[in-house]
Amino acid sequence: MSEQITRYRVYSTHLKQKFGQKIYKLPVNLPGNCPNRDGTLGQGGCIFCDEEGAGFQCLPNTLSVQQQLAANKEFFKQRFKAQKFMAYLQSFTNTYLPLAQFQKNITAAVADPDIVGISISTRPDCISNHYLDLLQNLKDAHPQPLAINIELGLQTVNYHTLRKINRGHTLAEFIAAVQRIKQYNFEICTHIILNLPWDNLEDTIENAKILSALGIHYVKLHSLYIVKNTVLADMYQQGEFTIISLDEYINRVVTFLEYLDPGIVIQRLVGKGPPENNLFCNWDTSWWIIKQQIEKKLVTLNTYQGKKFNYLNKQYSLNKQY
Ligand code: SF4
Repeated sequence: MSEQITRYRVYSTHLKQKFGQKIYKLPVNLPGNCPNRDGTLGQGGCIFCDEEGAGFQCLPNTLSVQQQLAANKEFFKQRFKAQKFMAYLQSFTNTYLPLAQFQKNITAAVADPDIVGISISTRPDCISNHYLDLLQNLKDAHPQPLAINIELGLQTVNYHTLRKINRGHTLAEFIAAVQRIKQYNFEICTHIILNLPWDNLEDTIENAKILSALGIHYVKLHSLYIVKNTVLADMYQQGEFTIISLDEYINRVVTFLEYLDPGIVIQRLVGKGPPENNLFCNWDTSWWIIKQQIEKKLVTLNTYQGKKFNYLNKQYSLNKQY
């Protein structure tokens, strides 16, 4: 293992330790919607959300869950000799589906014995006890251990910015969702965009501190990408905001990691972004190169995840296992 990747808690390593082998995530695209798009909470959704419901690299949602899993599984098997997988319900707000439909899809997703877990993307204000009870029953009835991971889009803890990006919820709903999910012992992953134009370095630090204080398990960091024909794209074209530089983004990721509980596993340091139909994506730089630059910066500064995690009385265990 290289020096760089030991400076933060790497997801692939964590999965290998947890399951005893490499695990691959298989995206599943369901024909869903989102209360922030259909008028229930708001119209048009988050200002960066496109027609794909913030999910891409998926197969068409006209294919069944089984068809999508089978096709993606075959790809990973051939390319990486993969054997075990997690089903990843990625697009839109999956727990906004009617309960019976959600149950049908989830049951189909975990029926394959090669599936060792399921990851479900949703909004903090859309994860009620009804859905969590259903997941608990599914887990209890499952013939083999099943990891259940709820992926909550938050993007920032700054509730002023949450309003600005039209999330349709504040920080309070996120805190409530984390507390509710924790009652079931399911794992929680949180998505954060570290370069929202209305956030600064103080918000970066507060993002890390609040996720640590709440004891979430995984983080996915993204840079903001601007997809054509979104509200964000209009604002960008009218010069209503500017995007921070790549150097500043790297600085924010490093700072975020320094303040983050060293037990939290990092699923991503930068998003992959849609390859086309965008006005801005990752400073026209490959996500892989940005990742390497972040890792290099950690080495140059001789810093690491958790270096500044001293604000909760250090009540963590270095041996914490997930
Ligand atoms: S919560 Fe997700 S699907 Fe809904 S509007 Fe926002 S980005 Fe789009």
